[in-house]
Amino acid sequence: MKETTPHIALVTGASRGIGAAIALELAHQGFVVIGTATTDEGAAKISHTLSAYANCRGVNLNVNDAAAVDALVEQITTQHKALHVLVNNAGITKDRMFLKMTPDDWHAVIDTNLNSMFNVTKQVVPDMVERGWGRIIQISSVNGEKGQSGQTNYSAAKAGDIGFVKALAQEGARAGITVNSITPGYIATEMVKAIDPAVVEKSILPHIPVGRLGKPEEIARCVVFHSLSKRSN
Ligand code: NAP
Repeated sequence: MKETTPHIALVTGASRGIGAAIALELAHQGFVVIGTATTDEGAAKISHTLSAYANCRGVNLNVNDAAAVDALVEQITTQHKALHVLVNNAGITKDRMFLKMTPDDWHAVIDTNLNSMFNVTKQVVPDMVERGWGRIIQISSVNGEKGQSGQTNYSAAKAGDIGFVKALAQEGARAGITVNSITPGYIATEMVKAIDPAVVEKSILPHIPVGRLGKPEEIARCVVFHSLSKRSN
């Protein structure tokens, strides 16, 4: 049966920042949202934030753990009979100039920001193909498009995300699955708070036309736009 109204949404990395705003906005729009964090405490925080919305909840998930991802998607599709929207948002930074970058810095960022896309998306696509409808949204980064000094690992992962999205979008189109990437600039979250404030002031803000960091809610609205889009075939 073809469906036109998405209902169940999985948002990775929903404990704070952009993911938390996405989870809240999707819940507000009527989606049943399952948001993930890497700790039970974070999962409980998501459940608390979404407590006004029926069946929305937080769960503990490491997106690098393919078996755990498999188990969670199985649990969601068994309970809700569907998973309509996937938002691959979980991400980390380990910034360092390339000369000083360690293999751990490299692999941690590539695993969490790029390889996790395979882990999670791989599990949700079969159900979407069967249903003839699905929405996959990747939170990439402007630094995957333009590159950023001190972020060879992050820029490589985020550029990889964009390539993945472009290729999977071509595969998914005829099955009614859209795959889109959102590439935020600098957004006011803990990820950006980790940057030296002097660097933000002197090197980042002057390049932002409106002169301020973006807000997580502004990215959440873009995710809702893609999540609610209708079939085009
Ligand atoms: P954030 O505030 O640091 O939040 C990161 C989220 O990812 C948290 O919920 C965290 O969970 C989760 N996470 C980290 N490692 C994980 C793992 N292995 N498995 C599952 N979840 C994991 O970051 P943010 O700024 O909101 O960024 C969200 C996304 O937007 C990231 O993909 C980031 O690269 C991208 N982005 C951010 C900016 C920006 O300026 N902030 C700009 C462009 C793109 P815990 O709380 O449990 O650690």
